Amino acid sequence: MNPNQYTCKNCGGKVVFDVQTQNLRCPNCETEYPITKQEANTKHLISNYETVEKPTEHTATVIVCSSCGATIEFDTHVTSGKCPYCASPVVLSEKAVTSLPPDGICPFKIDQHEAESRFRKWIKGKWFAPNALKNLYQSGKMMGVYVPYWIFDADADCKYQAEGGKDRRVEYQVNGEKRTRTETDWYPTSGTLAHRFKDKIVRATKSITDHLLRILGGFNLKNAFSFHADFFTGFSSEVFNIPIHDAYKEAQEYFKGVLHSMVESKVRLTYDRVRNVRLWIQWSNEYYRFMFLPVYTMAYYFKGKTYQVLINGDSGHIVGDYPKSFWKIFFVVLAILIVIGLLYYFLG
Ligand SMILES: [Zn+2]
Ligand SMILES: [Zn+2]
Repeated sequence: MNPNQYTCKNCGGKVVFDVQTQNLRCPNCETEYPITKQEANTKHLISNYETVEKPTEHTATVIVCSSCGATIEFDTHVTSGKCPYCASPVVLSEKAVTSLPPDGICPFKIDQHEAESRFRKWIKGKWFAPNALKNLYQSGKMMGVYVPYWIFDADADCKYQAEGGKDRRVEYQVNGEKRTRTETDWYPTSGTLAHRFKDKIVRATKSITDHLLRILGGFNLKNAFSFHADFFTGFSSEVFNIPIHDAYKEAQEYFKGVLHSMVESKVRLTYDRVRNVRLWIQWSNEYYRFMFLPVYTMAYYFKGKTYQVLINGDSGHIVGDYPKSFWKIFFVVLAILIVIGLLYYFLG
């Protein structure tokens, strides 16, 4: 990549990706440089992965976090002494990294200011969060990172067997008293089901806490463009470390879960209950895409533990972990007890 490419022709300043205009822009003189945007529509057969798409090596300015294992490529003007995922101290170095040619990128739709104001709103209601979390945005620890993801499509043709249960009420007597109970008769049932899965997003790195990632919400892949290095300017990007086959296994587990509940609902159309669902799945049209999706990430240490806060750079949805401060809770409880005590004293 030619560094002069990102020098403003008008004033010599550094040109970066501007979220508002979705183009390159000089922050000094506000000159705009349009990015040629093309719809991201390349996808590859998973069976071709080994033969067609080979990871390549290139040299980049990176941090390799020895604590959480993340390898992050930095845009040269982004400087931070801390890992955005685990807050461990890290240093920048030149290093050869393995990467795949991305099939697309979903550019940041939420800018840094918007992300910070969403953080401030979110933190307002968190009474018992430690001050280390409340002060995060002031310390400029929020970092926009393009996180690598695998995206899968697959068609499933599925044969199933299950047992459907029909309930009936049985009357019986105990010591001359009439009672009823429900009994279920089970019948074998079977059938076929077809489903087309599209755009299942699976993470390609382990740095983001899994449960946070799951509640971070989806990314609108309609906002994705075919990859251009211009989108990266002013942001960091993470190097993938979950191999495609591991990620696809995860996607298939998810697909199987969906098929399982589809079969259950189908059986429940004619029965009251369902059990022992068994599936035989024939997969076809299995495609993958490798894409970068935008996430603002912050991490902080509190009493020897790391906590993450994430903002979806596409939707603005914010999620985060925080410990509840013992002393804050202690004093609130104490205050309540004192008020109750006083009420008893004066009214009792
Ligand atoms: Zn300029
Ligand atoms: Zn780290």
